[in-house]
Amino acid sequence: MHEMTLAEIARGLADKKFSSEELTKVLLARITQLDPQLNSFISLTEELAIEQAKAADVRRANGESGALLGAPIAHKDLFCTQGIRTSCGSKMLDNFKAPYDATVVAKLAAAGAVTLGKTNMDEFAMGSANESSWYGAVKNPWNLEHVPGGSSGGSAAAVAARLLPAATATDTGGSIRQPAAFTNLTGLKPTYGRVSRWGMIAYASSLDQGGPLARTAEDCAIMLQGMAGFDQNDSTSIDEPVPDYSASLGDSLQGLRIGVPKEYFSAGLDPRIAELIQNSIKELQKLGAVIKEISLPNMQHAIPAYYVIAPAEASSNLSRFDGVRFGHRCENPENLIDLYKRSRGEGFGPEVQRRIMVGAYALSAGYYDAYYLKAQKIRRLVKNDFMAAFNEVDIILGPTTPNPAWKIGANKNDPIAEYLEDIYTITANLAGLPGLSMPAGFVDGLPVGVQLLAPYFQEGRLLNVAHQYQLNTDWHTRTPTGF
Ligand code: GLN
Repeated sequence: MHEMTLAEIARGLADKKFSSEELTKVLLARITQLDPQLNSFISLTEELAIEQAKAADVRRANGESGALLGAPIAHKDLFCTQGIRTSCGSKMLDNFKAPYDATVVAKLAAAGAVTLGKTNMDEFAMGSANESSWYGAVKNPWNLEHVPGGSSGGSAAAVAARLLPAATATDTGGSIRQPAAFTNLTGLKPTYGRVSRWGMIAYASSLDQGGPLARTAEDCAIMLQGMAGFDQNDSTSIDEPVPDYSASLGDSLQGLRIGVPKEYFSAGLDPRIAELIQNSIKELQKLGAVIKEISLPNMQHAIPAYYVIAPAEASSNLSRFDGVRFGHRCENPENLIDLYKRSRGEGFGPEVQRRIMVGAYALSAGYYDAYYLKAQKIRRLVKNDFMAAFNEVDIILGPTTPNPAWKIGANKNDPIAEYLEDIYTITANLAGLPGLSMPAGFVDGLPVGVQLLAPYFQEGRLLNVAHQYQLNTDWHTRTPTGF
């Protein structure tokens, strides 16, 4: 039962082959049995899950239908869930029970999805390895000595290990696409503004975007349908109609213009990954796509710009965790300053503290022009590169990551080495564009992802290209041994 995709579950439920309650119990038992190896969950919500599953079964018995009605999922632990711990992977929020549901959580619940729990993540979504969580590192089900990617590593490891069919995630600089690549999943970062950020604890507000992690493009379409849409509670949410994503999955790729940036194949890329990317290009050519070399000349500046802008926004967003209103508070503070200092010093881990310091420095009066303003200018140049490219091509294709998943601890003393791994993903966040990663093969038994980028609001195009590819390849069906 645990092998089923969301689409298969929806058919099984509709055909009354099993109930949502039966399926939910099977998956909860599987999580209890297998998750100790992975550490992919921070909280399990067994009672809520059974209650929601029963309610979904009643709705189906009363004639309701819907692809998510009775479907078991989990939420990355930065989506607020009413009355349930929402930790953001941090000691700071270990005792925080959200007073309301995030819009994404409420929308998926209204569609009938069943919440099995909250998944582990890098602390405040800062990281590319899921090693910065206060709840411990998450392990990659393809090789337990390796990282699953981050920051949505818990959602990715859980779905890859068949503990559940799909989960929510967020992507500020790659945190949906990179763990998808490292664990052989399909992950979609939507256009900035497509999915509401209300109730999604902020890391870098101008970059953060929620989206799905699942095994197939077909399932990502189902999840995105449940997550997307205008929300008046989020001032950056865009009031555009949500297309029927599943309906866009049948389009032919005949004549599709795929741009391959020449900058993508530089020295930093593992040649074995380069070869797999070439294979995926050939596969898409067989389906009728036309390949064109393009250039994204400002890509080389994207990492420094991102690692100024994201920490700057984080330093401002995280100022609300002061030990006064909510979250961790130190014992017996001597005065107000001592309360702030010790609460934040104790509550935040080293990576979060590093980013707050970098961000506060970049925003300070003497350095604002030199760093923050300059980074914003680079951001515009990166966006302009994409706009020029999309005049010539329909999608852009390349690797999701320069290397496969590294060993846990390998970058421990070298944060910059880890930042450099984000080279292919962060440009889409700087520009606000939608991006998808899908399975493209293996290197030393570790999965590799191919990334597709599209113009604003063309999530349907990305999902269709990935779906056509998945109809003709079987990488996405491979299962990690032991799961
Ligand atoms: N690795 C990037 C960072 O640490 C992106 C993380 C994310 O997308 N949340 O900032």
